[in-house]
Amino acid sequence: MIITDMHVHSHFSSDSEESPEAIIRTAIEKGFPCIYFTDHHDIDFPVHPSEPDMNFQLDFDAYFSVLNELKQRYEKQIRVYIGVEQGICPATAPKLKALYERYPFDFVIASSHLTSLENGDPYYPSYYEGKDPVMAYREYFLSEAENVTLTDSFHVYGHLDYAVRYCPDQSFVYRFEDYRDIFEVLLRRLIEKGKGIEINTSGLEKIGYPHPHIEALKLYRSLGGEIITVGSDAHRKERIGAGFAEAEALLAETGFRYYTVFKNGQPEFIRLS
Ligand SMILES: [Zn+2]
Ligand SMILES: [Zn+2]
Repeated sequence: MIITDMHVHSHFSSDSEESPEAIIRTAIEKGFPCIYFTDHHDIDFPVHPSEPDMNFQLDFDAYFSVLNELKQRYEKQIRVYIGVEQGICPATAPKLKALYERYPFDFVIASSHLTSLENGDPYYPSYYEGKDPVMAYREYFLSEAENVTLTDSFHVYGHLDYAVRYCPDQSFVYRFEDYRDIFEVLLRRLIEKGKGIEINTSGLEKIGYPHPHIEALKLYRSLGGEIITVGSDAHRKERIGAGFAEAEALLAETGFRYYTVFKNGQPEFIRLS
């Protein structure tokens, strides 16, 4: 059994209204001995006129203050770890070092929500306009491979094929072979830097399978990748731990015998039973 959820959002994220305390209580009810908060922080996020409240800036001081207080209050029932989902694109990646030297996060997920600050957000249909879908995805995966060269300030790369969620025809199916060359570069760079990837089970709800594509997991494993975390990307407490049985089956199917948790930025490997 997977004993913790390493990708959870609370109301510290622009796109969640969930209280941190409700998350902790839910995690206790579900029998998790520990829980991770990974709220959004997207430096320079270009606020879209249609959604002015979605700025994805995290108030680090308030975040640590509230979570540290809850961590102490619930320490007899559950261990609370403070993480972040750091939005990353080539323009922002070089700024992360200074930020993460100042704040003692247990765990940093780097996620591509943008390929660039201008029209680089796959969430909006304009990202795909005038582009062949294969080229649009290639652009997204190439930017991830570039990001890895620009910073060391993270532990795992989040939802590697997130752009698929918003593909124009809503088919959510893609031919991994069209991108294998880029994934090889991306995954090799992650492995060389000692960085991991995540299985993000929110894909089950949104695209019918967890992020990333099973072929990406197999490739990561065949290249020697070992660091793999599991997270639901819950934005509501009901979603905490959702799809973890599927994630566990996927890990077994792709040959992983361990999954990973992080404490104080250090990986610990937990054997799948
Ligand atoms: Zn994300
Ligand atoms: Zn997330």
